[in-house]
This record gives sequence, structure tokens and C-alpha cells, in this order.
Amino acid sequence: MTDGEAQLIAEAERRLGAKAIVTDLKEIEPWVTDWRGRVHGAAPAMLAPASTQEVVEIVRLAAEHRVPLVPQGGNTGMAAGATPPSDGSALLLSMRRMNRIRSISADSRLAVAEAGVVLATLHDAAHEIGMRFPLTLGARGSCTIGGLTSTNAGGTQVLKFGTMRSLVAGVEAVLPDGSIHNGLSGLKKDNRGYSLDQLLIGAEGTLGVITAVALRLVPAIAARAVAWAGVESPNKALDLLRFLEARTNNIEGFELVPEDSLQLVLKHIPNTRAPLSGQHRWNVLVEATTADPNHDLPAELERLLGEALEQEIIGDAVLAANEAQAEAFWKLRDTIADAERAECQTLAHDISVSVGDMPRFIVEASAEVERKFPGVIASGFGHLGDGNIHFHVRAGSHAAPDWYESEGEQITRFVDDLVTAAGGSISAEHGIGQLKRSEFARLAPPGRIDALRAIKQALDPLSIMNPGKLVP
Ligand SMILES: Cc1cc2nc3c(=O)[nH]c(=O)nc-3n(C[C@H](O)[C@H](O)[C@H](O)COP(=O)(O)OP(=O)(O)OC[C@H]3O[C@@H](n4cnc5c(N)ncnc54)[C@H](O)[C@@H]3O)c2cc1C
Repeated sequence: MTDGEAQLIAEAERRLGAKAIVTDLKEIEPWVTDWRGRVHGAAPAMLAPASTQEVVEIVRLAAEHRVPLVPQGGNTGMAAGATPPSDGSALLLSMRRMNRIRSISADSRLAVAEAGVVLATLHDAAHEIGMRFPLTLGARGSCTIGGLTSTNAGGTQVLKFGTMRSLVAGVEAVLPDGSIHNGLSGLKKDNRGYSLDQLLIGAEGTLGVITAVALRLVPAIAARAVAWAGVESPNKALDLLRFLEARTNNIEGFELVPEDSLQLVLKHIPNTRAPLSGQHRWNVLVEATTADPNHDLPAELERLLGEALEQEIIGDAVLAANEAQAEAFWKLRDTIADAERAECQTLAHDISVSVGDMPRFIVEASAEVERKFPGVIASGFGHLGDGNIHFHVRAGSHAAPDWYESEGEQITRFVDDLVTAAGGSISAEHGIGQLKRSEFARLAPPGRIDALRAIKQALDPLSIMNPGKLVP
């Protein structure tokens, strides 16, 4: 522990009480490694403020003693952004005690939630007032509003509602100089120049500590209809999306599933069944929702899929007969990554290109990767309508046990080059954190990196906010 850290810890304990300081390394241990166990860090203490004012005290002490802070919510991030450096040179700042929903209202369609509120808790609170927070993802039982905002998270409803960036109405944050930015008024229009709120969204804790967020709510769902369709190519899948979007505003989820991914799920995941009797080279999961209790959504989706079948956009389709079947369809989509890992070593890439280019990208990039690295199997699945897929490369059953370590970096660089050449992004929803920082530095235009560094330097000249993350 450095002298600065020791002084900060002692002073913080004196001002905030013992509850706000954890120095028992056993208690800290689960939080210093990223959840996938890829990056191991260390921290001599974890600070756990219970209010915005306590965050102010901590940030001021950090600036005074030049001790970096690593903000952390649920530690479910995909890029190890919340993992402290391994030399113990930073303190963890856990936001989980700031877990109050300060206000929630159907009239204003807003909730103000503190940074440590868990996503599922917000879902429940919105549901109780007949509303809904329309962003969800697999980690909803542990990820926090502060983490979701700081990573500009996406999920499966982005098609209709956008990422966190469109769902955040304002941010309260403690800036690196200890001042409070209060953007919680929920103004729909505010043109006073640069938006600090938007700067903090997706900043991965490098520009300040988010303490509370104003979030947009929408009316609760009255009904949903879920269907599974077989198509012959990603191009046809996009045709289906455009066909549906031209005829209804109710499409909320649209997920592409290659047939070989489906077959792996059926092989490795218990209690799964193929929705269609024949095989199709590609599949699509479609979810439609409505807030109107009088709208016959299943009938609408069935009619539209029937027309798509007649026009030979799809080869076949089936509508889930009930909620259990709808959940079973989603399980096929949600367990692809698990099934792939059960089959063999797999490299995951969370990438985006423009929606119109995605079908061609999937086909061409998969072929190029398989040509360049004989034996591997490449494919993409996921949010086709967002131009964001999980581009996964599987080692194949004959690969060496150390394939991941020996070839992984080379393959990832190759994939990232293809994405960049297609004008895309090497991080669609997971952020840069530590894991993608060197690729970001290698591939981003110099002007973009310079601007990021200039913003970081202007707001955090002492580099106390999550150094070593995001900004190369
Ligand atoms: C099973 C699973 C499924 C997932 N699915 C998706 C998905 O579909 N789409 C998607 O986009 N993501 C997905 N994720 C990742 C998702 O980004 C994270 O779950 C979430 O956004 C991070 O929330 P967290 O509270 O765990 O943040 P952490 O992991 O604790 O932190 C993430 C980053 O935010 C910073 N941070 C955290 N809190 C604050 C704060 N209060 N102020 C400033 N900075 C802060 C941290 O320093 C770090 O850089 C998934 C994760 C899991 C485990």
C-alpha cells in the first residue's frame, strides 16, 4: 500500500465511518477479477459510499493524495473496465450501496435511480406502476444502472428503443475535481452546448463517478408474440426485417441465428428442441410487443409471416403458441455462446457495421477468416437489425489445446481489420475497457484518439479516474 493510499483510507474512515471502507482482502477478492476470470487485479481497499456527498469526499481525497479510483457496479462488464490494476496502485470504488430509486413516475415517464440500483430492481419498480424500462440483458440480476450507463449498454431491445444513450434523460456525477454535475432535471430540450451527460455515458468511469441517472420509461407490455423463421441467407433475414418494419411498429427483437449455431445448442443444451421441422441455413427469432391490450398481436405477426412466406422472403415460420414456447425460442438464442464453448474453444468479437452492409459482411468475413486460418469455423449471430453481431470463431475439434493463446490474438487482429475496412466498430456494445485498448489504439483514426485524450486531460488532469482504461 502506498503512503497516499494509507492516508486516504484513514481519512475516509474518519469522515465516512467504517461502513464505507473495506480493507479485508477476502471481502475484496471477488471484485478484483473480471467475472470471466480473464484479468486479475489487486486493491488494498474498496471504498463503498452511500451518498453523492460521500462520493464527493472520496474523489477530493483521491485528488489530494493522487490515488486513482476504479468505479465498479456489478462487475459484469465484458472488457474488464472495472478491474483494478494488478500492482494495487488504485482503490476500488464500489457503487453498490447507492441503491435507492429516488423517484419514479408514470406521469413524467421517468425514474431517477442511484448508480448502484440493479437493473432487475428497476424493472420491478417500473412494472409496479404499469411502466417499463425497455432495456434488458443477461446480467440484469447483477449489473447496475451506473455500469450500464458507463458502458452505454445495449441488449435485445435496441432495435426499438436504442442503447442506454437514448434511454438516459440525465446524469448526476461527481467530476474528478470533486464538483457535482447535476443533469437530473429530465429536460427534453436543453441546448446549452456540449452535453456533459452524453460525455459521461460510455465513458467507462474515466471522466467521473456517476451517482444517479434519470431514465426514460415506456408503457408496460400488454402482449407479446414470438416467432421463429427459417431463411436462406442473412440477406433474406434483413429483407424480412424491412418487410415487417414497413407494415408494423411493433417489432422489438430481431435476432439472427445460423443453422450450425442452432445445431450446437440442440446438441449441448438440455431441454431444447428445433422450432421448425426442416433445416434452414439461417434462422431468425422475431419478437413483437404492444402496450395496447386490444391489439391481436399474434394474429398480426402470423399474417405478416404468411405474406413473407408467399413472397419467398422466408422458407418457413412458426409462432410460439404460449409464453413457455416463447421462452424456449429465446433460450435457443441465449445459449448459443454456452453451446459453442461446450463444443470447442471459441473467440468472441462484439462488432458492428452498418445494418445494410451486415449480411454481406457476415458471409464474406466468415469465408475470409476460414480461408486465412484453415480448420476454424467462423459465423455471426445476434442483433442483425442493429448492425451488431457476435462474430465468433471456433477452433474446430482438431485444434491444439493452446489454440486460444497461440492463434487467438492473430485471429482477432484479422477480424478487427476486416471490421475496420468495412467502416465498422470493434466494440458495438461491450466497451473498450482494458481488453480492447490496444486494438482501439491500433485501429482508431488518430484524430479520434487525440480528441479522447484531450477530453480526458481537460476533465481529469491528475488521472485519478480509472486510468489505463478506454483512453489509449
Ligand atoms: C450474462 C451477461 C450478458 C450480457 N449481455 C449484454 C448485452 O446483451 N449487451 C450489452 O451491452 N452488454 C451485455 N453485458 C455486459 C454489460 O455491459 C454489463 O452487464 C453492464 O453494462 C455493466 O454493468 P455493471 O454494473 O456490472 O458495471 P461494471 O462491470 O462494474 O463496470 C463497467 C464499467 O463501468 C464503469 N462504472 C461502473 N459503475 C460506474 C459508475 N457509477 N460511475 C462511473 N463508472 C462506472 C466501470 O469502471 C467499468 O469501466 C452482459 C454481461 C453479462 C455478464
